[in-house]
Amino acid sequence: MEKKKIGNLYIVATPIGNLDDITLRAIKVLKEVDLIAAEDTRHSLKLLNHLEISKPLISYHRHNEEVKTDVLIEKIVEGQNIALVSDAGTPGICDPGEVIIKKCIEKQIPIIPIPGACAMINALITSGIDTKEFTFLGFLPLNKKSRKEKLDEIKKSTKTIILYEAPHKLNNTLKDLENILEDRQVVLARELTKIHEEFIRGNIKEIIKKSENLKGEIILVIQGSKEEIVNDNYENMSLEEHYKMYENQGLNKKEIIKKIAKDRGLNKNEIYQKFI
Ligand code: SAM
Repeated sequence: MEKKKIGNLYIVATPIGNLDDITLRAIKVLKEVDLIAAEDTRHSLKLLNHLEISKPLISYHRHNEEVKTDVLIEKIVEGQNIALVSDAGTPGICDPGEVIIKKCIEKQIPIIPIPGACAMINALITSGIDTKEFTFLGFLPLNKKSRKEKLDEIKKSTKTIILYEAPHKLNNTLKDLENILEDRQVVLARELTKIHEEFIRGNIKEIIKKSENLKGEIILVIQGSKEEIVNDNYENMSLEEHYKMYENQGLNKKEIIKKIAKDRGLNKNEIYQKFI
């Protein structure tokens, strides 16, 4: 007997505001699949109507993710092709996706990404802040202990940090950041790709001044700390490792030598001699 062919799971990115940002491939896939699993079916229906696509929809959100994953997997195993979409942007990025993707991998079901909009990437690339290395932290946790841990991580990070935030929690988050960021550059990107798209740039104090009663969808991009938080173990490092540590933070030779001399309680000239 011929073996039944299993279907594919397509992870389809949708626009984050401007409906023109849907890709040609996303349209093609949404037209061709048997079923679309959507975070909010009413929300996705608007997009599908706009694209003149009529397809069966099934709800797939945080609160039914576990149960619905099994239902969807069963359908894929029976041969159906399914597209997963979220309300906006890329599924799996602060949106449902992870659970079904892990399950599909276990079951050897092909997962096919259909790339498109992702809010954090667009905030990052337009921020003017270093894009070489960055850490995406999603939404800051509300639980006190976990929030403190994340804030500590932001304080120490020499990499660019990206945070998502809801407008009604923005003030609290900015206040928490004020305690740790000193003069680091921050960009608040709001309503990307929409009519009221806006970028507010400055240090955290300036951002707080300019962001009273802001509404809409918000992302914070935060410059990494210039200062690597003192590594108490530098005495166990070789001079070369110590040098490299500061070089990686973007310091120039003169600044590095000054810092190493201070860390080690040595004279600047002594250090300088070792590096020529
Ligand atoms: N999956 C989405 C993505 O690919 O970016 C993110 C979904 S997450 C539930 C929603 C958060 O993303 C918002 O609270 C906001 O921080 C950010 N976001 C989404 N769309 C945005 C937009 N158009 N402008 C600014 N931030 C946006």
